[in-house]
Amino acid sequence: MPGESDEVSSASAPDASVRERWSELVDLINSARAAYYQAERPTIADDEYDQLFRELEEIERANPELASGESPTQTVGGERAEMFEPVNHLVRLYSLDNAFDEDELEAWFDRVDKALGAVPPLLCEVKIDGLAVDLVYRDGMLASAATRGDGITGEDITYNMRFIEAIPEKLTAKKPPKLVEIRGEVFLSTQRFEEVNEEQMAAGATPFANPRNAASGTIRQRMDKRWEELQSARAVDTDRGRARAERLERDYALASGRLAALGFTAHGVGAREGIDIGSQSEVYALLADLGIPVSSRMAVHSTRDEVREYIAYYAEHRHDVEHEIDGVVVKVDDFAAQSELGETSRAPRWAIAYKYPPEVVRTRLVDIAVNVGRTGRVTPFAVMEPVRVAGSTVSMATLHNQYEVQRKGVLIGDMVFLRKAGDVIPEVIGPVVEARTGNEHAFTMPTQCPECGTSLRPEREGDKDIRCPNTVGCPAQLRERLFHVASRGALDIEGLGYKAAVALLDCGVVTNMGDLFLIDADALLECPFFTRDPSKGETGRKLTENAKTMLANLEKAKTKPLWRMLVALSIRHVGPTAAQALARHFGSIEAIAKASAEELAAVDGVGQVIGEAVVEWFAEAWHREIIDKWQRGGVVLADAATSVETQDQTLAGSVIVITGSVPGFTRDEATAAAAARGAKVTGSVSSKTTCLVAGESAGSKLDKATSLGVPVVPAEAFEVLLEQGLEAVLKG
Ligand code: ZN
Repeated sequence: MPGESDEVSSASAPDASVRERWSELVDLINSARAAYYQAERPTIADDEYDQLFRELEEIERANPELASGESPTQTVGGERAEMFEPVNHLVRLYSLDNAFDEDELEAWFDRVDKALGAVPPLLCEVKIDGLAVDLVYRDGMLASAATRGDGITGEDITYNMRFIEAIPEKLTAKKPPKLVEIRGEVFLSTQRFEEVNEEQMAAGATPFANPRNAASGTIRQRMDKRWEELQSARAVDTDRGRARAERLERDYALASGRLAALGFTAHGVGAREGIDIGSQSEVYALLADLGIPVSSRMAVHSTRDEVREYIAYYAEHRHDVEHEIDGVVVKVDDFAAQSELGETSRAPRWAIAYKYPPEVVRTRLVDIAVNVGRTGRVTPFAVMEPVRVAGSTVSMATLHNQYEVQRKGVLIGDMVFLRKAGDVIPEVIGPVVEARTGNEHAFTMPTQCPECGTSLRPEREGDKDIRCPNTVGCPAQLRERLFHVASRGALDIEGLGYKAAVALLDCGVVTNMGDLFLIDADALLECPFFTRDPSKGETGRKLTENAKTMLANLEKAKTKPLWRMLVALSIRHVGPTAAQALARHFGSIEAIAKASAEELAAVDGVGQVIGEAVVEWFAEAWHREIIDKWQRGGVVLADAATSVETQDQTLAGSVIVITGSVPGFTRDEATAAAAARGAKVTGSVSSKTTCLVAGESAGSKLDKATSLGVPVVPAEAFEVLLEQGLEAVLKG
């Protein structure tokens, strides 16, 4: 093939191992496709599929003779299932080529630019994680509906369409076109998806991996046959007949209810008569006029930068959309330009799907272990084979409590679906029931604390959580509390990490939290973890640099604000917000200790539960002992001149949004600091925003602020903003 010779790296025949891998990949991909399209149960995760597909493409690029007609690269994804009658599409449906990163998107821009001489107007839309369908309307009436199938032949699902409220049987136009073939995506909203999976799990079935599989499973039910079955059951007038009819009726109602809740969004047209349209965006306007749902998120952009911004915006706001999206589709808007670019055997050259990283993967649940927290709560967590998901490697996920383990129906040894959405902590969705071998076993919650052997029990009858009641002596709780004191949300003591906390307890320098501020260099010298061998010319063991850092930071921590002290004490339910409210109102630990539950609860931002928890905490003699010891160690447990209340209200009345990282502050700290200066801190930029504080890796919020003319404060100037207000920052 002239002009494509640069893609052929080798003229000689591929060796046996390459051929073997090629046919292995073809088999893997074909069976995965069959599972996707016929059984609604993915046998492999989306990203694995993509990886296999790309490996296959690479092999074929290097060895073009392997790219025969039987290769999945030469056909459109999906094969016709046997269940429904086949139906031919009037115009073939293509798959889209994917871009998995900026470079691949750039390469597509370049190809379009080169072929057309310029980058034309580009239509951007979110890529719905649903099921592609093809609807044919003749003289305004729905004539047939089909799944995409292999792109040429799909399955006839016309009967089922009448249940889907989002798909009209009749177009709304007065003079509808003679013929229009509409392509779009049937989907399940995120909320409905979760409900459906709850139902699946309650019935002991494998939950759906994603809304696409759920939508597909919902649509692939022969409702016509079920109806016939129900009618014949109703005709049998015996006890058994009536019981069967009742069961079938319930099933039918469940199935039709699930169908009714499906959504639909159109994304193109195929065959048409009596329609004169010149671009993709005109198609959407026309379809909307006909009463067909189209995406409100579609936008036409004319530069590469705008397209990139659109993609970045939805990467950040992926979960604000009511249905799941797995990327953004970019299409050349103008039909004439589309024709000029044409198609490959598989996909149009005028469109590209930019895929976001997958958020659901499959992995092995190796074990379920338990963790004892700083308040004694015993939490089971999943230990999994490490797996890449949403850009990070995950090997553990919390399972909250034993009831959650039961609800999800996971067994140790199961293959499970694991989800990690954005910044949210990873979550085990449920087991792949079909993948069980019989070697899995159920998790049993321990009855004794794995660290101190005390019998576990719920704090109150009916509590879902169980706890280790040995709050004073349980080494796990001691260690967690000590580690918590040093955490960034509390006293932020550099040098006192998890290992240091363990070492302090192991060598007996610290026996409880109270001892923390009494330790000195002499005490640490007794502890191997904090010492090193003497260098030449020195005698005796020396403190490590880390130990010195820890001592210096313990000293600094003694004068931190009262609210941080309150957080550090691990009082149940008292997080930064409640701690700040308490510190602001009472000003000292003595005043808080003396207050009644009612007085505490009356403070804005505190409430009954926290009020009681605080009183309970101070009622324990060993807790009060911690306070005594800290005070003896020089810890200041009161806010003086630096108290929140007396800080200058430099930001009074302003509305601030913080995005990206702010040096020296966690997000909570930055928010609290701005709030202490009188600002209201909100999550999204609008015309009401006074200014945006933008740190490293600020995303679409920065674009939004710029477009609205909202002043942007670089994160490095955050402290100036706090001290002197916005004007001082803007003046430079
Ligand atoms: Zn314990």
